[in-house]
Amino acid sequence: GTEGSTLKVLMFPWLAHGHISPYLTVSKKLADRGWYVYLCSTPVNLNFIKKRILQNYSLSIQLVELHLPELPELPPSYHTTNGLPPHLNATLKRAAKMSKPEFSRILENLKPDLLIHDVVQPWAKGVANSHNIPAIPLITFGAAVISYFIHQMKKPGIDFRYPAIYLRKIEQQRLQEMMKNVAKDKDPDDDEDPFAEDPTRIILLMSSSATEAKYIDYLTELTQSKYVSVGPPVQEPMNEDDGDMDLIDWLGKKDEHSTVYVSFGSEYFLTKEDMEEIAYGLELSNINFIWVVRFPKGEEVKLEEALPQGFLERIENRGRVVSGWAPQPRILSHPSTGGFVSHCGWNSVMESIDFGVPIIPMPMHLDQPFNARLMVELGVAVEIDRDAEGKVHREEVAQVIKSVICKETGKNLREKVKDISENLKSMRQEEMDVVVEELIQLCKNSTCINSSS
Ligand code: UDP
Repeated sequence: GTEGSTLKVLMFPWLAHGHISPYLTVSKKLADRGWYVYLCSTPVNLNFIKKRILQNYSLSIQLVELHLPELPELPPSYHTTNGLPPHLNATLKRAAKMSKPEFSRILENLKPDLLIHDVVQPWAKGVANSHNIPAIPLITFGAAVISYFIHQMKKPGIDFRYPAIYLRKIEQQRLQEMMKNVAKDKDPDDDEDPFAEDPTRIILLMSSSATEAKYIDYLTELTQSKYVSVGPPVQEPMNEDDGDMDLIDWLGKKDEHSTVYVSFGSEYFLTKEDMEEIAYGLELSNINFIWVVRFPKGEEVKLEEALPQGFLERIENRGRVVSGWAPQPRILSHPSTGGFVSHCGWNSVMESIDFGVPIIPMPMHLDQPFNARLMVELGVAVEIDRDAEGKVHREEVAQVIKSVICKETGKNLREKVKDISENLKSMRQEEMDVVVEELIQLCKNSTCINSSS
């Protein structure tokens, strides 16, 4: 029953850092409202987030391990997209789906009242329903990009309603290629399309009407389904690793808003050319920076070899190059940080807005170009343009960074981003109240259905 007792929810994000982290945020919000939460992922992912489950959640959020079958090309340390060589992405999806029987046993044992799952793993809904457990998706992308895709499907040949959201030619080509691969990998056994027209469907969205109201409305218009926003995926800045103290101390010695943070998320890897242009661009700009540089697992390169010769000596104390992983929320919330050169992963842009930092988009693929355009539309970003072949140039990198850190442009962006950040914060409580009410109704209705059948 749902009355008077604690509701139990099983959260099942896609095995990617950028998906797990927002599920953790929602888990905490539900736990704060008295829910009991199971967060299910592979051991390698759970180890990574363990230190981010604060002490006060140890009684309300329980981590549940899902063991994928071991494929020769996919050892257990690869059961995450964090550092996964890109060509193994489809294999990881396949392995995850092969874990269906284990996932079914987990549901059987834990008997949650509700499953919240990623649309990247639509098969999870069928498993839950076979145990009479209601399931609803939580999407970790923004409304602008999702509505753009659904528009493409339902109104082919007609321009997207909001011209601020568009793709450059080269991005269009990359996207078409990706869609071909998606179509090729599509499993005919997959459950129904979560975006089919269905007025009874509720979909949770990692967004807020403070940033995407018109796109959220358009989603409803296109699908008739009810989109409920859970607010942005914001992490509290915390001491994630003692090894970072040195970096934060260094940042503390820089002037207010004087430093750019440069990072391209947890999944994407720069090409050698892009890396070189960014390095020289940072050098030319003369601006302080923190730059996170990463390589796929098994292909690690020594920093000195990956960077232009003599780079580290030349920049001296003006910049820090961090290998692998940086405490992003701590850096973004630091007063010395004045801009974020970002690939525009959805978490990154939302975190940047939340912490009041202007964005300098350098999008690569997937939803990133859409997110970049949305940030420009909101007035919180100036993009680093690529040429017609998609190449980045050092002069452009330097010039845009300088304009955001030293010029009037930066001041205007900063004012705008602070405004939006305040709106987000003021709506946070209310948005989550609506979510919880919807979820309670859903559990209640399914109890009625189950007990009457
Ligand atoms: N992140 C971090 N340190 C890093 C790189 C990433 O803490 O060095 C976090 C970042 O704060 C964000 C997430 O990882 O929450 C990345 O998600 P996003 O959607 O921005 O990009 P993705 O990794 O999915 O491409």
